[in-house]
Amino acid sequence: MQRILLVEDEPPIVSAVRERLEREGFAVLVAQSGEAALALIDPPSPDLLLVDVGLPGIDGFELLRRVRARGLDIPVIMLTARGDEIDRVVGLELGADDYVVKPFSLRELVARVRALLRRAVEVAELRARLATPQPSTPAALQIDPARRQASLHGIALPLRPREFDLLAFLARHPGQVFSREALLRQVWGQSEYLDARTVDVHVRRLRAHLAAADPAAAAMLQTEWGVGYRLVEAQD
Ligand code: CA
Repeated sequence: MQRILLVEDEPPIVSAVRERLEREGFAVLVAQSGEAALALIDPPSPDLLLVDVGLPGIDGFELLRRVRARGLDIPVIMLTARGDEIDRVVGLELGADDYVVKPFSLRELVARVRALLRRAVEVAELRARLATPQPSTPAALQIDPARRQASLHGIALPLRPREFDLLAFLARHPGQVFSREALLRQVWGQSEYLDARTVDVHVRRLRAHLAAADPAAAAMLQTEWGVGYRLVEAQD
Protein backbone atom coordinates (compact mmCIF):
# COMPACT_ATOMS: atom_id res chain seq x y z
CA MET A 1 0.00 0.00 0.00
CA GLN A 2 1.39 3.41 -0.93
CA ARG A 3 1.80 5.85 1.94
CA ILE A 4 0.96 9.51 1.66
CA LEU A 5 1.96 12.07 4.26
CA LEU A 6 -0.51 14.95 4.45
CA VAL A 7 0.94 18.05 6.08
CA GLU A 8 -1.98 20.33 6.77
CA ASP A 9 -3.24 22.25 9.80
CA GLU A 10 -6.87 22.81 8.84
CA PRO A 11 -8.98 19.98 10.30
CA PRO A 12 -11.76 20.06 7.66
CA ILE A 13 -9.22 19.70 4.85
CA VAL A 14 -7.34 17.00 6.75
CA SER A 15 -10.44 14.89 7.25
CA ALA A 16 -11.77 15.35 3.70
CA VAL A 17 -8.45 14.55 2.04
CA ARG A 18 -7.66 11.68 4.37
CA GLU A 19 -11.04 10.08 3.87
CA ARG A 20 -10.87 10.34 0.09
CA LEU A 21 -7.31 9.03 -0.19
CA GLU A 22 -8.07 6.10 2.10
CA ARG A 23 -11.08 5.29 0.01
CA GLU A 24 -8.77 5.26 -3.03
CA GLY A 25 -6.61 2.66 -1.33
CA PHE A 26 -3.78 4.77 0.08
CA ALA A 27 -2.44 4.73 3.61
CA VAL A 28 -2.52 8.30 4.95
CA LEU A 29 -0.30 9.80 7.62
CA VAL A 30 -1.10 13.26 8.92
CA ALA A 31 1.21 15.90 10.34
CA GLN A 32 -0.27 19.22 11.46
CA SER A 33 3.00 21.13 11.33
CA GLY A 34 6.23 21.12 9.35
CA GLU A 35 8.15 20.04 12.43
CA ALA A 36 5.85 17.06 12.93
CA ALA A 37 6.26 16.17 9.27
CA LEU A 38 10.06 16.16 9.52
CA ALA A 39 9.82 13.41 12.12
CA LEU A 40 7.95 11.25 9.60
CA ILE A 41 9.88 11.65 6.38
CA ASP A 42 13.03 9.65 6.99
CA PRO A 43 13.29 6.23 5.35
CA PRO A 44 11.18 4.28 5.01
CA SER A 45 9.81 7.53 3.63
CA PRO A 46 6.23 8.09 2.60
CA ASP A 47 5.71 7.61 -1.13
CA LEU A 48 4.37 11.12 -1.56
CA LEU A 49 3.95 14.35 0.42
CA LEU A 50 0.99 16.70 0.27
CA VAL A 51 2.21 19.94 1.80
CA ASP A 52 0.13 22.97 2.71
CA VAL A 53 2.08 26.19 2.26
CA GLY A 54 0.62 28.00 5.27
CA LEU A 55 1.54 26.02 8.36
CA PRO A 56 2.19 26.99 11.98
CA GLY A 57 5.92 27.06 12.72
CA ILE A 58 8.04 26.38 9.65
CA ASP A 59 5.94 26.84 6.51
CA GLY A 60 5.48 24.44 3.63
CA PHE A 61 8.33 25.97 1.66
CA GLU A 62 10.79 25.55 4.50
CA LEU A 63 9.61 21.99 4.98
CA LEU A 64 10.15 21.30 1.28
CA ARG A 65 13.62 22.85 1.46
CA ARG A 66 14.54 20.58 4.38
CA VAL A 67 13.13 17.49 2.71
CA ARG A 68 15.29 18.13 -0.34
CA ALA A 69 18.28 19.07 1.84
CA ARG A 70 18.10 15.59 3.35
CA GLY A 71 18.46 14.23 -0.15
CA LEU A 72 14.98 12.76 -0.10
CA ASP A 73 13.53 12.39 -3.55
CA ILE A 74 9.91 12.01 -2.43
CA PRO A 75 7.32 13.42 -4.85
CA VAL A 76 5.74 16.54 -3.35
CA ILE A 77 2.46 18.25 -4.19
CA MET A 78 2.01 21.70 -2.65
CA LEU A 79 -1.41 22.89 -1.52
CA THR A 80 -1.40 26.61 -2.29
CA ALA A 81 -3.80 29.47 -1.68
CA ARG A 82 -6.06 30.60 -4.46
CA GLY A 83 -4.47 32.91 -7.00
CA ASP A 84 -1.15 32.95 -5.24
CA GLU A 85 1.06 32.68 -8.30
CA ILE A 86 4.18 33.46 -6.28
CA ASP A 87 3.56 30.46 -4.03
CA ARG A 88 3.34 28.16 -7.02
CA VAL A 89 6.52 29.48 -8.60
CA VAL A 90 8.47 29.35 -5.35
CA GLY A 91 7.21 25.85 -4.63
CA LEU A 92 8.24 24.52 -8.02
CA GLU A 93 11.63 26.21 -7.73
CA LEU A 94 12.18 24.55 -4.37
CA GLY A 95 11.54 21.17 -5.90
CA ALA A 96 7.82 20.62 -5.60
CA ASP A 97 6.59 18.33 -8.36
CA ASP A 98 3.10 19.73 -8.63
CA TYR A 99 0.60 21.92 -6.83
CA VAL A 100 -3.11 22.24 -6.40
CA VAL A 101 -4.91 25.47 -5.62
CA LYS A 102 -7.33 25.69 -2.71
CA PRO A 103 -10.18 25.05 -2.81
CA PHE A 104 -9.33 21.97 -4.89
CA SER A 105 -11.51 19.11 -6.00
CA LEU A 106 -10.67 15.81 -4.38
CA ARG A 107 -10.96 14.09 -7.72
CA GLU A 108 -8.35 16.45 -9.19
CA LEU A 109 -6.07 15.86 -6.20
CA VAL A 110 -6.33 12.08 -6.54
CA ALA A 111 -5.57 12.29 -10.27
CA ARG A 112 -2.41 14.30 -9.58
CA VAL A 113 -1.36 11.96 -6.78
CA ARG A 114 -1.73 8.94 -9.05
CA ALA A 115 0.12 10.62 -11.93
CA LEU A 116 3.06 11.54 -9.71
CA LEU A 117 3.27 8.13 -8.09
CA ARG A 118 3.23 6.50 -11.50
CA ARG A 119 6.05 8.75 -12.66
CA ALA A 120 8.04 8.05 -9.50
CA VAL A 121 7.78 4.31 -10.12
CA GLU A 122 8.95 4.76 -13.71
CA VAL A 123 11.90 6.88 -12.61
CA ALA A 124 12.86 4.32 -9.95
CA GLU A 125 12.74 1.52 -12.51
CA LEU A 126 14.84 3.49 -14.96
CA ARG A 127 17.43 4.23 -12.27
CA ALA A 128 17.59 0.58 -11.28
CA ARG A 129 18.12 -0.39 -14.88
CA LEU A 130 20.89 2.16 -15.36
CA ALA A 131 22.57 1.09 -12.12
CA THR A 132 22.67 -2.57 -13.14
CA PRO A 133 26.07 -3.27 -14.61
CA GLN A 134 25.77 -4.33 -18.21
CA PRO A 135 27.31 -7.71 -18.95
CA SER A 136 30.62 -7.19 -20.67
CA THR A 137 31.30 -8.46 -24.14
CA PRO A 138 33.68 -11.38 -24.46
CA ALA A 139 37.01 -9.80 -23.58
CA ALA A 140 39.07 -11.22 -26.39
CA LEU A 141 36.56 -9.93 -28.88
CA GLN A 142 36.65 -6.22 -29.64
CA ILE A 143 33.89 -4.52 -31.58
CA ASP A 144 34.36 -1.01 -32.92
CA PRO A 145 30.91 0.13 -34.05
CA ALA A 146 32.17 3.48 -35.38
CA ARG A 147 34.70 1.88 -37.72
CA ARG A 148 32.56 -1.24 -38.15
CA GLN A 149 35.49 -3.46 -37.34
CA ALA A 150 35.73 -6.53 -35.14
CA SER A 151 38.92 -8.11 -33.91
CA LEU A 152 39.82 -11.19 -31.93
CA HIS A 153 42.99 -11.07 -29.83
CA GLY A 154 43.87 -8.00 -31.85
CA ILE A 155 43.43 -9.78 -35.17
CA ALA A 156 41.00 -7.95 -37.44
CA LEU A 157 38.17 -10.13 -38.73
CA PRO A 158 37.41 -9.58 -42.42
CA LEU A 159 33.63 -9.47 -42.01
CA ARG A 160 30.99 -8.59 -44.52
CA PRO A 161 28.55 -5.88 -43.38
CA ARG A 162 25.79 -8.28 -42.24
CA GLU A 163 28.32 -10.57 -40.57
CA PHE A 164 29.59 -7.59 -38.64
CA ASP A 165 26.05 -6.52 -37.71
CA LEU A 166 25.21 -10.00 -36.49
CA LEU A 167 28.38 -10.32 -34.43
CA ALA A 168 27.98 -6.82 -32.98
CA PHE A 169 24.38 -7.53 -32.03
CA LEU A 170 25.21 -10.81 -30.30
CA ALA A 171 28.19 -9.21 -28.56
CA ARG A 172 25.93 -6.52 -27.12
CA HIS A 173 23.90 -9.27 -25.44
CA PRO A 174 26.51 -11.77 -24.29
CA GLY A 175 25.15 -15.12 -23.17
CA GLN A 176 21.65 -14.33 -24.38
CA VAL A 177 20.01 -16.75 -26.80
CA PHE A 178 18.21 -15.35 -29.84
CA SER A 179 16.01 -17.27 -32.21
CA ARG A 180 16.80 -17.07 -35.90
CA GLU A 181 13.61 -15.08 -36.40
CA ALA A 182 14.62 -12.60 -33.70
CA LEU A 183 18.04 -12.22 -35.27
CA LEU A 184 16.49 -11.63 -38.67
CA ARG A 185 14.34 -8.91 -37.19
CA GLN A 186 17.10 -7.32 -35.15
CA VAL A 187 19.96 -7.53 -37.62
CA TRP A 188 18.35 -7.59 -41.05
CA GLY A 189 15.26 -5.57 -40.21
CA GLN A 190 11.68 -6.46 -40.96
CA SER A 191 11.54 -4.92 -44.39
CA GLU A 192 13.48 -7.66 -46.13
CA TYR A 193 12.01 -11.00 -46.98
CA LEU A 194 14.54 -13.54 -45.86
CA ASP A 195 14.64 -17.17 -44.91
CA ALA A 196 15.73 -18.04 -41.40
CA ARG A 197 18.49 -20.11 -42.97
CA THR A 198 20.15 -16.84 -43.90
CA VAL A 199 21.03 -16.59 -40.22
CA ASP A 200 22.53 -20.09 -40.22
CA VAL A 201 24.71 -19.22 -43.18
CA HIS A 202 25.99 -16.07 -41.51
CA VAL A 203 26.62 -17.88 -38.25
CA ARG A 204 28.67 -20.50 -40.09
CA ARG A 205 30.72 -17.81 -41.78
CA LEU A 206 31.23 -15.97 -38.52
CA ARG A 207 32.45 -19.17 -36.86
CA ALA A 208 34.90 -19.63 -39.72
CA HIS A 209 36.21 -16.09 -39.28
CA LEU A 210 36.58 -16.57 -35.53
CA ALA A 211 38.29 -19.94 -36.02
CA ALA A 212 40.70 -18.42 -38.51
CA ALA A 213 41.82 -15.93 -35.87
CA ASP A 214 41.76 -18.48 -33.04
CA PRO A 215 40.72 -22.13 -33.55
CA ALA A 216 39.16 -22.27 -30.07
CA ALA A 217 37.08 -19.17 -30.67
CA ALA A 218 34.53 -20.80 -32.97
CA ALA A 219 33.00 -22.24 -29.80
CA MET A 220 32.12 -18.72 -28.62
CA LEU A 221 29.27 -18.69 -31.06
CA GLN A 222 27.03 -21.38 -29.67
CA THR A 223 23.98 -23.13 -31.06
CA GLU A 224 21.18 -23.71 -28.60
CA TRP A 225 19.42 -26.54 -30.38
CA GLY A 226 15.83 -25.79 -31.26
CA VAL A 227 16.16 -22.26 -29.88
CA GLY A 228 18.81 -20.20 -31.60
CA TYR A 229 22.26 -18.75 -31.16
CA ARG A 230 24.27 -17.02 -28.49
CA LEU A 231 27.73 -15.54 -28.09
CA VAL A 232 29.65 -16.42 -24.94
CA GLU A 233 32.96 -15.60 -23.37
CA ALA A 234 35.82 -17.65 -24.81
CA GLN A 235 36.85 -20.49 -22.48
CA ASP A 236 40.54 -20.96 -21.70
CA1 CA B 1 -2.84 26.12 6.49
